[in-house]
Amino acid sequence: MQRIMEYLRSLLLLELLKGLSLTMRHMFRPNITIIYPEEKTPKSVRFRGLHALRRYPNGEERCIACKLCEAVCPALAITIESTQRDDGSRRTTRYDIDLFKCIFCGFCEESCPVDSIVETGCLEYHFENREESIMTKEKLLAIGDRFESEIAENRKKDAAYR
Ligand code: SF4
Ligand code: SF4
Repeated sequence: MQRIMEYLRSLLLLELLKGLSLTMRHMFRPNITIIYPEEKTPKSVRFRGLHALRRYPNGEERCIACKLCEAVCPALAITIESTQRDDGSRRTTRYDIDLFKCIFCGFCEESCPVDSIVETGCLEYHFENREESIMTKEKLLAIGDRFESEIAENRKKDAAYR
């Protein structure tokens, strides 16, 4: 009996009709896919993307070379060297993040006492060779300058959620 039913089902193309009806039902529903990169989905204010080093409004870099981020990084992706300035303050002479090692855990951001190292909402970047994956202090500061208004806005929103 089962064989006969299967034969009839294939003869009447029931599976095909079932598939087509599903297609027709979805044809007139709103799209749930987006056309990237023209369209983008919303991102959390806590999104952990490309790193940046921030400055104070007067242009002074925030980082005080305490090396907490370097110590806390589970992937050993951060390398810091520092020196003392003439005014007695301490600043980094080298601040590298190896993005091939980084696991984007956000621990560096959490540990920073002066809100210097942050992860931005930027996810659109690429590397063309191994060396480019090392984010130097200059590159990180430049990213910070570029995204400062977005970073400040996201931090304000994040504080409101807590
Ligand atoms: S996000 Fe995590 S893994 Fe990446 S540099 Fe920061 S602490 Fe290290
Ligand atoms: S980025 Fe923050 S945690 Fe890391 S060395 Fe600078 S001040 Fe310290």
